[in-house]
Amino acid sequence: MERHAELVRELRDANYRYYVLDQPVLSDIEYDLRLRELQELEETYPELVTPDSPTQTVGSAIVTDFATVRHLERMQSLDNAMDFAELGVWAERLEAGLGGVPSGGYLCELKIDGLAIALTYERGELVRGVTRGDGVQGEDVTHNIRTIASIPTRLAGAEVPDLVEIRGEVFMTVETFEKLNEQRAADGEESFRNPRNTAAGSLRQKDPRITRQRPLDMIVHGYGAWEGGPRVPASQSETYELFQAWGLPVSGLYRVVPDIEGVKEYIAHYGEHRHDPAYEIDGVVVKVNDRALQRRLGSTSRAPRWAIAFKYPPEEVRTKLLDIKVGV
Ligand code: NAD
Repeated sequence: MERHAELVRELRDANYRYYVLDQPVLSDIEYDLRLRELQELEETYPELVTPDSPTQTVGSAIVTDFATVRHLERMQSLDNAMDFAELGVWAERLEAGLGGVPSGGYLCELKIDGLAIALTYERGELVRGVTRGDGVQGEDVTHNIRTIASIPTRLAGAEVPDLVEIRGEVFMTVETFEKLNEQRAADGEESFRNPRNTAAGSLRQKDPRITRQRPLDMIVHGYGAWEGGPRVPASQSETYELFQAWGLPVSGLYRVVPDIEGVKEYIAHYGEHRHDPAYEIDGVVVKVNDRALQRRLGSTSRAPRWAIAFKYPPEEVRTKLLDIKVGV
């Protein structure tokens, strides 16, 4: 089918430009709509699905000067919902499978527009920082990760796993981004496009001195491999409490809510207060809080079934819509 081949080609090219070159040509919404179209085509014609289709894979094939490292556990993406109707379909299916609203509720947190990183701590000592890459292996950016002040080089507390892969988002705050661009303008240099691409470009510098001049930050939101030491926490929120006790940077803006109505309120609140956080967000991530239920729900090849990303509409589109309304 011609349209299928065209979409696969376009999405692969967009992935390469976004993940490898840090120079996207499509907007995120244009990308998301094409991916949606491909998913729908493949649902109608399942014979078109191949294991390397952009609907089945994460990130981009790795093209890099950095050493590549295999993740101990695969790093996934997230399925997304574009509106409350789609969120409702996800929750209904999930609750039908579980036989009711998940005990322990849903954890809502901001979806940071940064890049996914895995930090490996061995007996509490930071030994590696790796990009998500294609989910199976990523780029070893340890030397640059060590320039990020909020990432502890040693976990606090006596009880830490023998080995743990901590996952989170590296980003540049809006304030740092704006200051950096002011400085670049003063130096007669071309300005950076947005905080996400700047963070990605800074983290993938060969020279950590350059990364150090472009301060980055991190917020952690999950883990992969976990060997030895304390038991895995019983919920997502307890995981964050433990991470905080270890001195890891945890967001103070997550909330546990009892049901999908609470999720919608959280989403609506941050839809109105999108610029309150110090960093750019592109949505809200909703997770089943209880760890045992997360395990029961499991994952597809690309994303967990127990979480979903609610994406806010891009602001340019919203502004345009408002303009149209005003014009009528
Ligand atoms: P995603 O951004 O839709 O969601 C998954 C990622 O969200 C996770 O890997 C994680 O790193 C991140 N995340 C942020 N905050 C989180 C939190 N609190 N909890 C859990 N995870 C959190 O999926 P993706 O696979 O990373 O990237 C695909 C998206 O990237 C597209 O939907 C599009 O927006 C963008 N993209 C754009 C282009 C382009 O050309 N503009 C190309 C490729 C990808």
